[in-house]
Amino acid sequence: MNSNEIEIHKELKKYFGFSQFKGLQEQVITSILDGKNTFVIMPTGGGKSLCYQLPALIQEGTAIVVSPLIALMKNQVDAIRSLSSENGIAHVLNSSLTKTEIAQVKKDITSGLTKLLYVAPESLTKEEYVAFLQSVPISFVAIDEAHCISEWGHDFRPEYRNLRNIIKQLGKVPIIGLTATATPKVQEDILKNLDMADANTFKASFNRPNLYYEVRTKTKNIESDIIRFIKQHKGKSGIIYCLSRKKVESIAEVLQVNGISAVPYHAGLDAKTRAKHQDMFLMEDVDVVVATIAFGMGIDKPDVRFVIHHDIPKSLESYYQETGRAGRDGGEGHCLAYYSYKDVEKLEKFMSGKPVAEQEIGFALLQEVVAYAETSMSRRKFLLHYFGEEFDSENGEGADMDDNVRNPKHKVEAKEQVVK
Ligand code: ADP
Ligand code: MG
Repeated sequence: MNSNEIEIHKELKKYFGFSQFKGLQEQVITSILDGKNTFVIMPTGGGKSLCYQLPALIQEGTAIVVSPLIALMKNQVDAIRSLSSENGIAHVLNSSLTKTEIAQVKKDITSGLTKLLYVAPESLTKEEYVAFLQSVPISFVAIDEAHCISEWGHDFRPEYRNLRNIIKQLGKVPIIGLTATATPKVQEDILKNLDMADANTFKASFNRPNLYYEVRTKTKNIESDIIRFIKQHKGKSGIIYCLSRKKVESIAEVLQVNGISAVPYHAGLDAKTRAKHQDMFLMEDVDVVVATIAFGMGIDKPDVRFVIHHDIPKSLESYYQETGRAGRDGGEGHCLAYYSYKDVEKLEKFMSGKPVAEQEIGFALLQEVVAYAETSMSRRKFLLHYFGEEFDSENGEGADMDDNVRNPKHKVEAKEQVVK
């Protein structure tokens, strides 16, 4: 180790109490400390925040962190403050602050106390803030959830499109983009929109070797099939995703009637019920949550043993995120998806009310899900290929962990083309 490496290890221990970097963190941090534009692609839970927090804490000036969700920003600011004796070390700048609070934030930045300033993208467009930020030293701008810049991502936010112009007004500051979206299309969009084709890019593997992938044809016996599956995993925690709230309710009920402890979760339930059902799942008062995609963001239950998709998801990106909630602890995680062409048509019909450009993207993403469901090759190889990653389906980690590899079979034929 050279003196620099010793230094950042020391700082890691000092601020975060960790003795080792996770994955590519050290390389990323070195790139940022070198003042380079840097692009980080790591799966959820990979430790992206620390990649910009540590260099921000040890560099001169204030780092601006753009993040799409106020709740997430507040969490991070609280976490950083707990590492320091100074409250002013991290701040959020947003529209909810009073004049006095804004004055305090500005004072702490000007005096050099504030190392991390979290802003929502729409606040950053305010002229008043831009003028102020031009007058103080900025170490770098980190753009978290950078996929929000792309229409091909799962969470497009038009305000992200203005970021590059605003950052340019701040002078020559390095940009750090971070995302858990690994598709090459989204990555290209990010680099292009942030005008940082020159960025040092760091991409972690998205392979989850402990997850077993399986697709079953959806028949009218799906409910008894699911019940049988759950009874084979008695007492284990699992999530069942359904497309509609109605389906969530009916499946939860069917499971309960069959002696399985299950609760529903969807955005139609009031906040109190949702919180209660989520807690019951986390505390293991129930084994199974039947949910729409509203369930799961920020849920970190390490021992979820299965994730069932009663209906196919709208993209492989969503599928990866949702199945990724299984086996966080490295133990067994069975990912079972039910597939029927009728569901594809249903999803298409949902999309037909949307603007044409959005529809085209939606159809293209859905086509990939169909291809995944119908493939006879290694599902892991297929998924990772979608994320631009080559996988050795003979010797790669987790190579035999899917239905196609264990029981090679003939291809399920599509009845029609998806895009008409
Ligand atoms: P991401 O944003 O990539 O989803 P987070 O930044 O939220 O991930 O980090 C996920 C978890 O990993 C956090 O609980 C964090 O404290 C932990 N973590 C990050 N870096 C390290 C490290 N070097 N050693 C141990 N745990 C770490
Ligand atoms: Mg994150």
